[in-house]
Amino acid sequence: MAHDDIEIRLQDASPPAAPEGVLPESDPALCVHTLGLPSLDLCPVYFKESVFREIEGHAASYPDREVGGVLVGRRLQARGKPFVLVEGCIRGLKAEGTANRLTFTHDTWVEINAIREHEYPGSQIVGWYHTHPDLGVFMSRDDLYIHQNFFREEWQSALVVDPVKLDRALFAWKDGALLRNSGLRLYQVAAEKARLEQYAEALLAAKATRLPLPEPTGNPQNGNITVRLTFREPSLSPFAIMPEGMRRYFGIDDLLTAPRVSVKSLVIVVLLAVSIFLGVKYHTYQQEIKSYHEKIEQFMTSHESQPKDKTTKPAEPEKPTIPPASSPSSSNTHEAQ
Ligand SMILES: [Zn+2]
Repeated sequence: MAHDDIEIRLQDASPPAAPEGVLPESDPALCVHTLGLPSLDLCPVYFKESVFREIEGHAASYPDREVGGVLVGRRLQARGKPFVLVEGCIRGLKAEGTANRLTFTHDTWVEINAIREHEYPGSQIVGWYHTHPDLGVFMSRDDLYIHQNFFREEWQSALVVDPVKLDRALFAWKDGALLRNSGLRLYQVAAEKARLEQYAEALLAAKATRLPLPEPTGNPQNGNITVRLTFREPSLSPFAIMPEGMRRYFGIDDLLTAPRVSVKSLVIVVLLAVSIFLGVKYHTYQQEIKSYHEKIEQFMTSHESQPKDKTTKPAEPEKPTIPPASSPSSSNTHEAQ
């Protein structure tokens, strides 16, 4: 499986140099609208409006599980600087999506490549997209694994969409680090400029009307890479023993970024709990003994206050029966003999 995946990646490997192209901003036939502030460090990525709508639609139809696919388009360069046009997307229909996990299987890649060759001849896979319903926008450990293994080039991006919180961002490599790009560029034919602006404003307005929700623990706000927490001492996460569904309820996407406690502090808590338990037990035991003593005392006092009866009079100790002394008689008989 892994071997086949490597073959597919090699087929999609970038040609030595990107063909010369015209930036959509410089193209009089096109218009561009940005959502947020695009990062200047990363390779510019321009989404065709219809493609972006298609991705947003795919995301919105599954508000309860992760879905994804690949971004198809062209890597070009203008004045020596690369840029990417996203001209299509292919849903990973066979991608195995669960509540908080998405994996690209071998079958997914076979299907995606067949569609790409048929529908977008001459195109490249310029990245991938997937959703994080209600989890916020970040790259989990699994996402990082996919990106490291299938999208190694700096011009290949990962688009993460949260269809519930209506947030989205791109992630791409820069000198070996995965950077977050919260600004997105959309393009459209110049004649449709008004439509593009209307769509972009609608997206921003929808996001703005939502209450700001805190990002799940461990997710970068505007950070560069997914934070992987390391601990100086042995630790474990209480979320590790929870079923996946319950973990998701607490907003835990990835156990590696889930809150953890050190084993040392757990031991302290357990010892405290045990000593409190024993203390309570000891106290109730003392109380029981006390009440027992009280009952005895009560019994004794009620007993003593009763009128004395002859029958209850303690019997006089029996005098020991002493056998009659026979020595004088025997001596007498002895004398008589
Ligand atoms: Zn993810």
